[in-house]
Amino acid sequence: MPLVLPPNVNEKTFQKALDAFAGVVGRQWVLATDEDRYTYMDIYAPGDAESHIPSAAVGPASAEEVQAIVRLANEYKIPLWPISRGKNLGYGAAAPEMPGTVVLDLGRMKRIIEVNERYGYCLIEPGVGFFDLFAHLQDNKIPLWMSVPANAWGSVVGNALERGYGYTPYGENTKNICGMEIVLPSGDMVRTGTGAMANTKCWQLFKYGFGPSWDQVFAQSNYGVVTKMGMWLMPEPEATLGLRMQLREPDDVGWAVDALQPLRMNGVLQQNPSIGNSLRVVASQTPRSQWYDGDGALPDDVLRTILDKYNLGWWGLDLRLYGYDEVNEAHAKIIKAAFAKHTKQEFEVVRWHRGEPIQNSGAGVPATNALQIINWRGGRGGHLGFSPVLPANSADVLRQFHSTKKRYEEIGVDYYGSFTLFERYTTNVNMMVYDRDDKQMTKRVRDLFKVLVADAAKEGYSEYRTHISFMDDVALSFDYNNHALRRLNETVKDALDPNGILAPGKQGIWPKVYRGSRA
Ligand code: ADP
Repeated sequence: MPLVLPPNVNEKTFQKALDAFAGVVGRQWVLATDEDRYTYMDIYAPGDAESHIPSAAVGPASAEEVQAIVRLANEYKIPLWPISRGKNLGYGAAAPEMPGTVVLDLGRMKRIIEVNERYGYCLIEPGVGFFDLFAHLQDNKIPLWMSVPANAWGSVVGNALERGYGYTPYGENTKNICGMEIVLPSGDMVRTGTGAMANTKCWQLFKYGFGPSWDQVFAQSNYGVVTKMGMWLMPEPEATLGLRMQLREPDDVGWAVDALQPLRMNGVLQQNPSIGNSLRVVASQTPRSQWYDGDGALPDDVLRTILDKYNLGWWGLDLRLYGYDEVNEAHAKIIKAAFAKHTKQEFEVVRWHRGEPIQNSGAGVPATNALQIINWRGGRGGHLGFSPVLPANSADVLRQFHSTKKRYEEIGVDYYGSFTLFERYTTNVNMMVYDRDDKQMTKRVRDLFKVLVADAAKEGYSEYRTHISFMDDVALSFDYNNHALRRLNETVKDALDPNGILAPGKQGIWPKVYRGSRA
């Protein structure tokens, strides 16, 4: 695998920079062999892994080491791509946007600095994984619950920064951020919120501080390296009550969203329910070849046979109420009444009480089995996430569902989608699962992605998050006033990062040095 150097950096300067990095972190934490570079590539890349190949990786053990590396990167003009655990699967994994960038792997920084039971928060470093924090809470019998994404292999910090989400009442992870420590592109260190006060007593309690509030400026951004994050955790409830239903027909997702949205907004339902197509369940347990070996996408009648065999509807709906028994029962009654207007089906009810095994509680329990879906097509599996945000109503949901499904069928890919419902909008994550060994299929998926972004933009929908290969496309769709937002982002970028060393191209934000040649 050829070494791709950062733009405008020759091999001699690059080697000198790596030696200088080694002086900070130790030789063993500068990873620059072919095997190392391969390790940091996007393992699910839609056919273009080489176009995001890093030149090396460096692994600091502390915020002070991060500062030293960032200062050296300015001196040698070496671009850095910070990752926490690098499991941003479906969106680029550990790989940088721009080839030749050095990955700044923060995985060694994995201290759980504080967990506060009274106020329900933790203060953690970027390398802390969902499994690490979960084990810490369980082992120490701390009655606080996390919110975990469907695939929980990654880090708490990386997921919150990318606006990932889970399904408890604390499901919007980025909303739970309260106070961060950040190394700026200059190497300076800042604490946000009241952390800016050296002897603060409220860093993880009060988000805003005094003056502009910065936490969200560092989410999905290339303005700083987050070295500590405060995160609110949910107090363990006394009881939960789960309501499950299989929605038989494809269009049932429409009325389900209309029935749930007002209940989500008025607080009867406090978590973000996910309505996901049931093929995902089957696809994570069996290979496609077991059901169908014809050309094109899985025909509707074959799908129906599979779903009938497993006693599944077209969609699965999973709701959960958290709090006190009496309140949960009252809220369940309201939800059942709303559904009775649309279906004769009854909910399957699951009850949990404090002290019972946490697995059935509706708490965020980390798991990785959702990833098994990539084995569905055979070969080396890959998946790509197309994730637009829509208003939470049946007209928008059904229009987007049918248009995406049709596009999938045009290129012979099976439809996997979910609608996760928040108070006012729904996030529609569509996975394109493909066989990376099938070059033509991979190319069709890659080409389709741009079409999907354009289709969505025409309807007025943007993506909530995207793969590194498509960050420019999505950023371009934010076009109000001739891309005024991009001008603002670039102005801030150039002020904070004049040498353009931090994550060039992330979210379509390019520093001056690469602008024009890359964007
Ligand atoms: P995870 O392993 O938690 O799934 P990643 O470590 O892959 O997440 O992070 C996803 C993306 O978020 C990275 O590619 C990077 O752009 C950004 N990111 C992650 N951690 C940091 C951090 N500590 N500081 C700044 N940006 C970060």
